[in-house]
Parts: sequence; structure tokens; C-alpha cells
Amino acid sequence: MKKILLLMMISLATLSGCATSPMGRSQLIMMSDSEMNAMGDKAFLSLVQSSQLVTDRQANAYVDCVAQALIREVGGQWEVAVFLDQDANAFALPGGKIGVNSGMLNVAANQDQLATVIAHEVSHVQAKHSNERISQQSATKIGLSLISAVASSQGYGSPALMGALGLGAQYGILLPYSRVQESEADLMGVDLMAKAGFNPTESVNLWVNMEKASGGKQSAEFMSTHPSHDTRIQDLQNRMPQALALSQKAHAAGKNPQCESLAGRQ
Ligand SMILES: [Zn+2]
Repeated sequence: MKKILLLMMISLATLSGCATSPMGRSQLIMMSDSEMNAMGDKAFLSLVQSSQLVTDRQANAYVDCVAQALIREVGGQWEVAVFLDQDANAFALPGGKIGVNSGMLNVAANQDQLATVIAHEVSHVQAKHSNERISQQSATKIGLSLISAVASSQGYGSPALMGALGLGAQYGILLPYSRVQESEADLMGVDLMAKAGFNPTESVNLWVNMEKASGGKQSAEFMSTHPSHDTRIQDLQNRMPQALALSQKAHAAGKNPQCESLAGRQ
């Protein structure tokens, strides 16, 4: 079995390779979209089955409203779940899955800050960051065990699978997103939220709030390998003229999300 997998990897490596990220960076992409989607589906199912979900209708409607406004811009079918977990975290997975922890709703002070978080996560998926990370690891044991996990369908909740999908930092295991990927998701994310009609200037406030909430300690997807808050805030500010132009265009097209009224937060 291992030999077959190794041969598979080698042929994949020769057949495929260079792709370009939405930000124009060259990427090594070796997994197919359908393989990545299957992994995302599995990981999401495993998380939903092993976690407590928020049942409050208002909280779900609020998160869904923000997510749907962003999804309209990227297209496709996405599933959204709100997890009962005080850790201020969120994730998105290939296969169209979005998860937001209830703790994030205490840190993201308004719909625009929540849109910052979800747009960042969706951008990781749009830019195929999980695929890239697995591809980079493909010649190693980790890559092989991932392929094996997917091939044998025994990957439910496996640390390797979770790590490969960017859930690693959340679970204290391998393969968090790289800094380059994080910066890319930040810039793509702020463009995406602006295109959906959210206020991009709130992205900066979100990171200020995240820093306050973390109390100086680094944890979770949003802290572990991310660029320092100062760097990311500077990068976002540099991007702001472009993002503001996108949001003005969105408003002119009648895109003006009003999600806070759903949560009774207005
Ligand atoms: Zn990230």
C-alpha cells in the first residue's frame, strides 16, 4: 500500500506542480479539488459530531447573515456552524464549510469585524492554502500519512488531517498556516468583505480587539503563526484605499448588509 502511495505522490509531483495564488504568488498544488473537498467534509463532520453547537437562533442567524453576504461574492454552497466554545476562533474548510466559535462573538464587536474573521478564513480556502501545505509536505511522512488517511477513509478527526486543514493550531498539532499564507488571507479577506458591502476599516479594530482578548498570549488559529498584530494592521492600512473603493462600489450596487438587527445587537 505504501509503495502505491509513494508512486502516486511521485507521479503527482511530476504531473502537477505550479499554480498561482489569487495574489499572484506561485504555489505547489498537488491534490485535486475533490480530494481536498472530501477531507474538508470529513473534518467538519468529525468536529460537528464531537463538539457542542450553539442552538440560540439569534446567534446562528447573525453569523449566517454575515457568512451569506460573503458567500454571495465567492459563490458555491457553504455550510455554516456556530460552536459553543469560548476560545475566540473560527475556520473554513475546502468543501464549503465555515465554523465560528461563540467566543469570537465577544471579540468581534460588530458585523464588520465578524466579516473580517470569516472573510479571512474563506480566503484561506479560496487560495487553496491547505492544498499548498499538504503539497509542500508531500515528500515527507506527514504527506504520505495524509494521502493514506484520505485514501483509506480512516481520517476522521485524525491529527494529521486536522492539521493539514489549518485546524492544527486549534488542536495543538502540526501544520498551521504559514505567515505568507496568513498575510495573503488578510489582504484577500479585506477585499472580500469590502466587496460584500462591509466596512473594511473595521478589520483594523478587529485585530486590536483580538490582541486585547489574547492578553498577550499567543493561541489559536489567529495567534500562533500569524504576523504580529502591528505588521498585519500596517498591511491592512496600506490596503485600505483599495478596499474602501471596493466597498463604495458595493454600496452603489445596493450591497449593504444589516446583520446586527438579527442578533438584537443594533
Ligand atoms: Zn489565518
